[in-house]
Amino acid sequence: MKITLLTGKTFDISEAVGMDIKVVPARSSRKLTLKIDEKERVPVLSVPRFCSRKQAIEFVTEHTDWIIKALNKLPEVKYFADGESFMLFGQNVTVEHHPEARRGVWLEESRLCVSGAAEFIHRRVKDYIRKRAQEEFYARSKVLADKLGCKLTGVSIKDTTSRWGSCSTLNHINYSWRVALTPDYVIDYLMAHEVSHLKHHDHSDEFWACVATLCPEWSNGRIWLKRYGKTLYAFK
Ligand SMILES: [Zn+2]
Repeated sequence: MKITLLTGKTFDISEAVGMDIKVVPARSSRKLTLKIDEKERVPVLSVPRFCSRKQAIEFVTEHTDWIIKALNKLPEVKYFADGESFMLFGQNVTVEHHPEARRGVWLEESRLCVSGAAEFIHRRVKDYIRKRAQEEFYARSKVLADKLGCKLTGVSIKDTTSRWGSCSTLNHINYSWRVALTPDYVIDYLMAHEVSHLKHHDHSDEFWACVATLCPEWSNGRIWLKRYGKTLYAFK
């Protein structure tokens, strides 16, 4: 059967090929192409406008080995667990499980102590990070917004995998909770970036000049994200 793919329309072949696969319309190419969405950890098939479902399935089937290899190369999924070390708000911390305690999650120097059953450690740590991120990122963004003389209505912490932050026209900023896992200078850059969007709703030269006034070392933060940002998506 011939299927006409209009922009935005997709067809599902996951069941037919025996694995989760995202199908998206190809922008211009006449060829079928495959890539891996590293954040979602799924293969993505770009399908040209006139392509049958059968052709798409055949193409994927031919490239199954490549897909499996590429998926296996992705960094493994990480969970916050007893003994796991990671960077939190610029400080190296190690999770320490206290099953008998009833204090939730608390920080003692570099030990991130977590009470309760082991199976809840990941969720508890994540909730703790989100709560602290909300407070810290709001405070830090507010200082920068005041410097620019811009109004900041609020900050929310999201679980998005598509971006580190976003700024709405209502002067509200969203940050990914994973920003809390980056070095301090990266946090500085991201706050400067989003707060600058309160003034400039684009990525013009004026916008970047504004970022530089708030965070002179901004390019180091940007480079770090390009290099290592992906590794943070290993945390689910
Ligand atoms: Zn931006």
